[in-house]
This record gives sequence, C-alpha cells and structure tokens, in this order.
Amino acid sequence: MSDVAASAKQNLLDLDREGLERFFADTLGEKRFRAHQVMKWIHHRHVTDFDEMTDLGKALRAKLQQHAEVRVPQVQFEKPSADGTHKWLLAMDGSNAIETVYIPDKGRGTLCVSSQVGCALNCQFCSTATQGFNRNLSTAEIIGQVWVAARHLGNVPHKQRRLTNVVMMGMGEPLMNFDNVVRAMSVMRDDLGYGLANKRVTLSTAGLVPMIDRLGEVSDVSLAVSLHAPNDALRTELVPLNRKYPIAELMDACVRYAQRKRGESVTFEYTLMKDVNDQPAHARELVRLMRDFDNRLQMKDAAKVNLIPFNPFPGTRFERPDDAAIRRFQKLLNEAGRIAPVRRTRGDDIDAACGQLKGQVMDRTRRQAEFRKKLQAGGVDAAA
Ligand code: SAH
Repeated sequence: MSDVAASAKQNLLDLDREGLERFFADTLGEKRFRAHQVMKWIHHRHVTDFDEMTDLGKALRAKLQQHAEVRVPQVQFEKPSADGTHKWLLAMDGSNAIETVYIPDKGRGTLCVSSQVGCALNCQFCSTATQGFNRNLSTAEIIGQVWVAARHLGNVPHKQRRLTNVVMMGMGEPLMNFDNVVRAMSVMRDDLGYGLANKRVTLSTAGLVPMIDRLGEVSDVSLAVSLHAPNDALRTELVPLNRKYPIAELMDACVRYAQRKRGESVTFEYTLMKDVNDQPAHARELVRLMRDFDNRLQMKDAAKVNLIPFNPFPGTRFERPDDAAIRRFQKLLNEAGRIAPVRRTRGDDIDAACGQLKGQVMDRTRRQAEFRKKLQAGGVDAAA
C-alpha cells in the first residue's frame, strides 16, 4: 500500500465518542455499539491492532483495517525520577518532540499533558517559551499522551485508578488549540475513555479571555489561570498576553466561568520569583484580588491560590525565593483566610517540574535564535 493511501486512513485516536459513532455509521455502515467496543479496546486495554479486537467479526475487522488505524505517539525516551515522577519524551513529526509527566502523590496520580509543540506566548519565566513555537498538537497526539501513560501504569479504569487526574499544564497554551484540546478532554472524561470526573480534568491558561468563555459553553472541566502577578504593570512584564487581556477582564471571564459551573472554584497559579513578585505588598494585593473574586461569586474560597516556587532552567534571569520568603508570602495569604498550598517541586532530577518542559521544537518563531543570541551577549544570566 502506498503512503498516500496509508495516510488517508482515519486515525481513531483523533475521535471522541461522538466522532467515532459518526465514523462507524457513515464510513463503515456499522452500529453505534461497535464504536463503543472499539473505544474500549483502545483506551481501556491499549490495543491498537484490529485483529486483537476479538469481539468484532472478521468482516468488520477487515473493514477497519481498510479505512482506519490506531496511531499512537512513539516514545522516544522515558525517564523515571527518584520520587516516582515519570517523564516521557514523545516523538512528533520531523525532529519535534513533546513532554508528558506523571506525578504520583498520596492517593492520586496526576498526568501533566502538553497541548502544543512549543508555545507562542513568550511568558518570561517559562522554559517552553524559549523554545519558540511549531504547531498545535492533534487530538490523537493529546489523548495519545494519556494512552501512553495509562498503558505504562497498567491502568484499568474503575479498578485500579492510578491515573486519577489530568492537568493541561504541559507544553503549550491549551486554549490556543481549542477544538483538539476539548475533544481530547472529552475522551479523558468519557467512561469508554479514561472515566475521569470533570473536576479531575484541569485546563490551565495564561488568560485567553474569549476562549475561557467558549470553554465555559462547551465544557465543565476545572479551570486554572496562570496569574503570577497581582497588578497589570508586573503581569504584563511576566505574561505579555496581559497587554491584550488585562487582569480586570481576565477576572471577569473567570467569574463568568465559575458562575456557569455554580459552586466550583477557580485556581489561580502564582509562580514565586525572587524579588520580582514575592514581596509582602504583592501578597496583600493578591489577597484583595482574590477576596473580590469570592465576593462577586458570593462564595468563600471561590478563588484558590496555588503557589509554585520558580523552577530554574538554563539561561533564565529569574531565581527561586528562599524558603523563608515563600513561607512569608504563604503566611500573609493564610492570615487573610486564604488557603494557598505551595506546590512541591517534583521530578526536578529529571527536569520534569513546572516550566521546565521543553521537548524538541522546530521553532517557526525564531525565538530560539533570539534567545541564544541574548544568552551569548550576556543579556540573560547563565544557568544558576
Ligand atoms: N500555557 C498554560 C499551561 C502551561 S503552564 C498556562 O500558562 O497556564 C503550566 C504552569 O507552570 C503555569 O502556571 C506556568 O505559569 C507554570 N510555570 C511556567 N514556568 C515555570 C517555572 N519556570 N517555574 C515554575 N512554574 C512555571
């Protein structure tokens, strides 16, 4: 068979339940429950060869072989960490590769999933940004990350839930790849897929306001927002997207999202950087912002703060605050009645912590070249 014919096959990993049902009806002329059987083979049992799907008739298997395939991401490299964290480097097209990280923690297992090859947003403190941007991931490439991790973990939904949570906090801005991310999240939540509850699938965004509203229309997943600064001047410096969607507009969108979901909180991520956003004045400003959010929703703890000590990477000009500064910041929030857990750094021996994922990106934005030039010119400090 020629390559052209092969690539014309439908990759079933690109389809959620609805798409699969439609493909079975329209292309194969088959009943809906056949689509469900195949979905279970793929996501529960990690079977990709139609011949192994033994409850399908021979004729159907032949039809599937002709029109479809289950093409999963190739693991280029994987690395366990001493603390149980596990990182996969998955080969994409060309020399692109993306990273996925599994983080076990008392009673739960969280998978951190990427949505793009690189990222276009250029947040100053994130190592993915230095890699530039190549393209969006397909639905298959996004749900494929969960597939690879679940197979590795020997996960059987409803029996042994070792993969209990998914966070869209890997490489990329998920709301810039809206349709594919939403479709992949639908498979994560589907009982025929990974059976995760809405609350256990979290989408994290740097604050693409119109897309937060669209997400609210089509999905019930948990929302996390990368805030990192309590005022526009500082936030624009750290997260350039803030120029387009300043904090007031962002908070409005978060209020609308939470209102639609009635009673659900929004998580605000705050990466603590030494002498940049870790001062008591910042904490107090943050408290006011969060209190205002609670008041608008008339709900205590509607705004949850997650503190993330900055994770360094080569070439960054930022530093992690010392433990005392982190505790001081947290204490100011606590004293104002705000729970603000500090996210423990996990997998830092394998560069798998927040903001350290960089995969391999064939950069289309020339940001890598600019970054290297700056590095050589001493414009950014060498690695700590
Ligand atoms: N683009 C999305 C999702 C990816 S970022 C977003 O911005 O939310 C995942 C989280 O890691 C974000 O909160 C991000 O701001 C944080 N992060 C990025 N770089 C970091 C670093 N060097 N140290 C600690 N956290 C970082």
